[in-house]
Amino acid sequence: MKLEAHHKETVVLDPKTRTARAIPSEIRKDPLTGRTARICHFMKLKWEKPDFEKIVAGTEKMCPFCPDKVLNITPYFDDKLIPEGRLISGDMVLFPNIAPYDSLGAVATFGSRHYVPMTEITPELIVRGLRLAFEFFNRVESLNHPESVYHIINWNYMPVSGSSLIHPHLQVFSTSSAPNLMRQELEAAKEYHEKNGTNFWDDFVKSEELEKKRFLGRTGRTAWLSSYAPIGVAGDVLAVVDGVRCTLELTDKDLWEIALGLTKAMAAYDKMGIYSFNMNFFTGAKNDDFTRFHLLFSPRTFFNQALGTPDVGALRNLFNETLCMAFPEDIRDMLAPDFIF
Ligand SMILES: [Zn+2]
Repeated sequence: MKLEAHHKETVVLDPKTRTARAIPSEIRKDPLTGRTARICHFMKLKWEKPDFEKIVAGTEKMCPFCPDKVLNITPYFDDKLIPEGRLISGDMVLFPNIAPYDSLGAVATFGSRHYVPMTEITPELIVRGLRLAFEFFNRVESLNHPESVYHIINWNYMPVSGSSLIHPHLQVFSTSSAPNLMRQELEAAKEYHEKNGTNFWDDFVKSEELEKKRFLGRTGRTAWLSSYAPIGVAGDVLAVVDGVRCTLELTDKDLWEIALGLTKAMAAYDKMGIYSFNMNFFTGAKNDDFTRFHLLFSPRTFFNQALGTPDVGALRNLFNETLCMAFPEDIRDMLAPDFIF
């Protein structure tokens, strides 16, 4: 598969010596959607970890997901949807999102522990959280609900990622309205399939596996890659599951393999001083043969850590144009030592 990049160069002069210095940049095109991503502002991917005790101290007092409050504060579902009100698995609770952005939105806590450091998130913890979310999806699906089309899990881990709480939790929703980038990907994958007669994701993963420059490895039928045109400033980890079109086709074994890969990504980014991330499911509808289930793990950090400047500025926020501060191939090499299965 031919991947497109436009190389650019900026010449600046030293203010004292007037000697010229060339600064490279690159505009990459996402091979599916054509979305562009800029590789620029090259810097060492290294951040200082803050004093977590200071960040976390006292936040449990007001935390609605802590075990002394979660069952008193959080609402119940309509009894046509979940007759028992909430879904509970051990110390994990799934309840309606009180700030819904769609009609069937839920939040699932990862259990009673208020702060779980990123390096202590285990595959088992992730699998238990995912299973609870899947129980919700299966309930929605069994009702033949009109919103039972796309079953999505989003994860904002720690405030830097957009989470309003320290307590780890998942955003879980079923919707007939595909979010922007997912919808654009689905449209592009459909078009690719009509034009080429093959599945974009199958072709792409095959090509990336052969190319090796961004390939991180496999857990079962899940392939792990450093994204060619990342959204995150420190790159993104992309996981694509062979043969799976939509969320509900994932097996329990797939969940374990996805969870294992996610913990590898967390371990690798932790070494760069990153302690926050977003993770989104990208799913097709039930019989969307033209697509493959995939997810993006995108580390979140700061442009200026001392000032708390977020890693999203005008370019990204209003143009949806992304900046990545290292080549995805170099990011792959930084992540690879942890991606040993
Ligand atoms: Zn809490």
